[in-house]
Amino acid sequence: MVRELTVISGKGGCGKTTLTASFSALARNHVTADADVDAADMHILLDPKVLRTERFHGLNIAKMNDELCINCGKCYENCRYGAFDPDNTLHPEKCEGCAVCELVCPVGAIDMVEREAGEAYVSETRFGPLIHAKLHAGEEASGKLVALVRERARQVAEDQGKDLIIIDGPPGTGCTVISSMTGVDLVLVVIEPSLSGIHDSKRILDVAKHFRIPSVVCINKYDINKENTHSIMEFCRNEGIEVVGKLPYDETATKAMMGGKTVVEFSEGELSQSIKEIWRRVEKELI
Ligand code: SF4
Ligand code: SF4
Repeated sequence: MVRELTVISGKGGCGKTTLTASFSALARNHVTADADVDAADMHILLDPKVLRTERFHGLNIAKMNDELCINCGKCYENCRYGAFDPDNTLHPEKCEGCAVCELVCPVGAIDMVEREAGEAYVSETRFGPLIHAKLHAGEEASGKLVALVRERARQVAEDQGKDLIIIDGPPGTGCTVISSMTGVDLVLVVIEPSLSGIHDSKRILDVAKHFRIPSVVCINKYDINKENTHSIMEFCRNEGIEVVGKLPYDETATKAMMGGKTVVEFSEGELSQSIKEIWRRVEKELI
């Protein structure tokens, strides 16, 4: 049976990737999936060798056939996203794919066509397979792309007899986050003790609770605001959520990142030991 762990945070820059990459270094017989597609950075630390590339399509967009167009202006009048100029020139980069123009065009001069949004990769790293993706400039990540990354990770895990998928999830509470956590066996929420971090993380924990996904918490840079750390601990206690560890503020994380290494490879110091202890506790939860 393949187990799935998603590491997630209420906002970006909380140390989520630092932790996930170290888990990837510590785990055995696993696949890593970088589902934080908007800010994919796992590849910086894991230095993947790409084995397979596949194109990813986002929303369909409008395409106009100038030869059929009779310049009636209906597309300009009806597009809510300003993708047409008053002279009916179409700007595909502004198209949101609603297909209204296709519907209102009296002569069938508009078709909805596939738009290539980016590429997904199956790669090999020193810590086993990595599934990751890259969006083309101006494209946004979608639940569909996160689902594709997860699907490929599962296929690779099944093909290679792996028993765990470690997913680096996107920050926030949007549809990409939900897509990265639905149906997984455990969600680890990384929280920084800032007021906004606490607020956003509580929302994620609510989402996890709504979908009945077991969740645990790790507090990163707990020592930058001990009062807020205390209130996170209290909140978790009241909600019955396990705090699997607290990490101190430590510049080792930045130094390791700059050296292209995970913290547990880079150092044997306090941060590294704390991450190893968190991993032991997370592993126990996954059994
Ligand atoms: S598909 Fe919708 S958003 Fe795109 S150009 Fe047509 S009306 Fe505008
Ligand atoms: S609705 Fe069709 S025919 Fe009318 S201006 Fe737009 S593309 Fe041309």
